[in-house]
Amino acid sequence: MTNNIVEKSAREINKMFLNKEISAKEIVEAFYKKIKLAEPSISALNSLTEDLAFKQAEVLDKSISKGEKLSPIAGVPVIVKDVMCVKGYPATCSSKILESFIAPYESTATGKLWEAGAICLAKSNMDEFAMGSSTENSAFKKTKNPWNLNTVPGGSSGGSAASVAALEAPISLGTDTGGSVRQPAGFCGVVGLKPTYGRVSRFGLIAFASSLDQVGPFARNVYDTALVLQYISGYDPKDSTSLDIEVPDYTGKLNSDTIKGKKIGLVKELMGDGIDAEVRKSIEKSVQIFKDLGAEIVEVSLPNVKYAVPIYYIVATAEASSNLARYDGVKYGYRTGGAKEILPMYMSTRQEGFGQEVKRRIMLGTYALSSGYYDAYYKKAQQVRKLVTQDFLNSFEKVDLLISPTCPTTAFEFGAKVEDPLSMYLSDIATIPASLAGLPAISLPCGFDSKKLPIGLQIIAPALGEELLLDASYAFEGVCKFENKVPVLV
Ligand code: GLN
Repeated sequence: MTNNIVEKSAREINKMFLNKEISAKEIVEAFYKKIKLAEPSISALNSLTEDLAFKQAEVLDKSISKGEKLSPIAGVPVIVKDVMCVKGYPATCSSKILESFIAPYESTATGKLWEAGAICLAKSNMDEFAMGSSTENSAFKKTKNPWNLNTVPGGSSGGSAASVAALEAPISLGTDTGGSVRQPAGFCGVVGLKPTYGRVSRFGLIAFASSLDQVGPFARNVYDTALVLQYISGYDPKDSTSLDIEVPDYTGKLNSDTIKGKKIGLVKELMGDGIDAEVRKSIEKSVQIFKDLGAEIVEVSLPNVKYAVPIYYIVATAEASSNLARYDGVKYGYRTGGAKEILPMYMSTRQEGFGQEVKRRIMLGTYALSSGYYDAYYKKAQQVRKLVTQDFLNSFEKVDLLISPTCPTTAFEFGAKVEDPLSMYLSDIATIPASLAGLPAISLPCGFDSKKLPIGLQIIAPALGEELLLDASYAFEGVCKFENKVPVLV
């Protein structure tokens, strides 16, 4: 029975644990065994948190033997993106500059999971400081897509997505600034949710672009995604942008009938040029599934979506240039360049400590914020960001949800875009708009292309519309049955 525990969902693992069919220690052992088998192929993880996992398991096994009441997430193993702080363990952001950094405190989202009895297995690889769409910008290693080891897992949360696809854990946490949960979920054939901005605390998430960053779950099915959201959501006095609004019962209320009679808008601008024909076909099939489920589908236009990528690369780089100013060799991790003079030390530390993409963005952002250019770039970008948000508000007067592909293509091969930043940036065209507007959005597996690579369907909801988003996803999953499809690692 314990042999195939790694294939089980979070919900099933929890049930088996609560029914005493398996101990927490056995769960942890089984997943580490799987990790040791899968890692040589996919390289999804930066470090294991073995002593923490076994300590957490011991506490859980004691609680269960005492007959204590445990939560619906107790005993469920989780992998955490290396941009989030787990107290006492490395938080490297896959950067040389933080390679030796040990988190001195716990992020709120992870802390809530451990408090509810989830188990921390490992920290996952990512694009350096969450900047990228392929995880190739990691300073440490290349994570492979479990569906085809010659292709990227997406990014920046590539390690978190690949690990869940490869059964290294039933759930993981990623972060999404412009698509970094949804896009890798799409590439790896798993579910990935970016909550409404402010739904989940950002405390302990190492900042990239603070007005966009959100923590989000990966899982292989919709219920497990809702389960994680349930525990990580909520107001946090340590994050002034977290929302002081009650957290609904996401799992208890999951209902596949809600979608009946709802109006769904298919985003016109995200179904045209630049979208791969096989991806488009798969989205058209998904539209039919929603029709069969009783939803009405209409075409919707978001006219300002064409500005989303340029706006994002001004706003996000501007915020990054400010957020990353703190890595100067004084306060954190890496330092080089001698101790005699401070300026040369700052300069060589940043020159050597940051990778190429991070430096490119710091320069872009510094330029956009500089006094002569602030109005022309940063201020203008913020104004057009408002227009994108307004497009969404207008469309949600007519429809309940929006759908589009998660990405214009399926997973691409290593090296295909890394030399051409612009083509890499454009792969986020479908995910960035919801990020700019702070809206919740999910990526669901909806099919495969002729190369047997997964295709992602994106659903976007109005702010705090996670319940409807999850209900629609749950209904879709019931027909598409994607949760039974897992890659075979060779
Ligand atoms: N791919 C986008 C970027 O490179 C989004 C990254 C993210 O969401 N963290 O910035």
